[in-house]
Amino acid sequence: MTMKYNMASPMDLPNASSFWMPFTDNKAFKESPRLLASAKDMHYFTPDGRPILDATAGLWCVNAGHTRPKIVEAIQKQAAELDYGPSFQLSHPLAFEFADHVARLFPGDLNRVFFTNSGSESVDTALKIALAYHRARGDGARTRLIGRERGYHGVGFGGISVGGIVSNRRVFALLPGVDHLPHTHDLARNAFVKGQPEKGAEFADALEGIIGLHGAETIAAVIVEPLAGSTGVLVPPKGYLERLQSITAKHGILLIFDEVITAFGRLGAGSAAERFGVMPDIVTCAKGLTNGSVPMGAVVVRQSIHDTIIDATRSGIEFFHGYTYSGHPLAAAAGMATLETYREESLFARAKELEPYFEQAVHSLRGSPHVVDIRNLGLVAGIELEGRKDAAGARAMEAFRAAFDAGVLIRVTGDIIALSPPLIISRQQIDAIVETLATVLKKIA
Ligand code: PLP
Repeated sequence: MTMKYNMASPMDLPNASSFWMPFTDNKAFKESPRLLASAKDMHYFTPDGRPILDATAGLWCVNAGHTRPKIVEAIQKQAAELDYGPSFQLSHPLAFEFADHVARLFPGDLNRVFFTNSGSESVDTALKIALAYHRARGDGARTRLIGRERGYHGVGFGGISVGGIVSNRRVFALLPGVDHLPHTHDLARNAFVKGQPEKGAEFADALEGIIGLHGAETIAAVIVEPLAGSTGVLVPPKGYLERLQSITAKHGILLIFDEVITAFGRLGAGSAAERFGVMPDIVTCAKGLTNGSVPMGAVVVRQSIHDTIIDATRSGIEFFHGYTYSGHPLAAAAGMATLETYREESLFARAKELEPYFEQAVHSLRGSPHVVDIRNLGLVAGIELEGRKDAAGARAMEAFRAAFDAGVLIRVTGDIIALSPPLIISRQQIDAIVETLATVLKKIA
């Protein structure tokens, strides 16, 4: 039974006051709620049946589009067959099979998979693996972790410590021994560049400075998003990731790519590692792993790192870490069906094919009111607006509300609009998103 809610009044929201919403202005939301009741392919539908074109794949998750039959069926079947099984000291076949399938999507010897339930858990797991690896090699003084300004690595204490978003950090105690690279956002040199900017590879050289300050022998890992999503689509300059890779390798530091957003076709390849041809030591993922349908994350680790940790213990548990739901049957079933859907519909190749059209379309917004930059890669775009004096983020938030009212779901972060539609999007739907945005930008003050 589909319940109907009257969107006009927050009093009609069931238990409006009980749900403490994450990363939300709760007071404003409850005064003027936006609800989704169902979804199909490229659209959400509000409780009163209004279609909303999804220009964000939910929250960068639903790469194959919504409620895809194969995935729905797999979850339903699995729920009736094996609803739950732990993976501590026993497991179930699907978890092993799924790990093999995930491993095949990543390059080189990135072929050992640790399951989590979210991107945040994947990040904290990856950081722990890095520490455990150095300890297993007898190099336990390597405990420092290096993140990057404007990095988003979820909300665990590890993730916010290596992350670079001040509002996510200032209230909380952080991990000690963490330093940060500078971010790569460079409006002065790279505004309106299509794809990867030519300028900025040298931002990676700051790592040599950090190494000089702390000593390489104290540093365990560097973690970056290959393309920073949540802080406004920061596309890596050409040569930047390559340079990070060569500096980390030279100093025996592990390179972690946080691919929670970039894996599973978002950049027109299985992973950003593949798209950029840069080999990290550890990759974190989540979101598109199960098409957002059942919560799941994974950490994909080079075999040599895995083997070092496993072989360091003669018997007994080698790595004291894991989750009740690691390798959950429903998530594994959803993940298998998700990867099958990606493969059957060649969705990663489709994203690559659509990239030039998408690029052209979003860059047509250059010259629209308030727009100070447009950047893109794969099926991701960032449209940066000039912020209002003394009201950072207000203009983009207004754009978000106006776009939703006009039937398009966009994502905003600060004063940046981020687009990341499902990879099944049509050219006409790309046009519709851009036309709506053009109208919205004219409308807002
Ligand atoms: N890492 C990156 C790069 C992300 O973009 C996100 C979420 O957007 C996370 C980690 C956290 O993922 P989750 O919200 O599933 O914990």
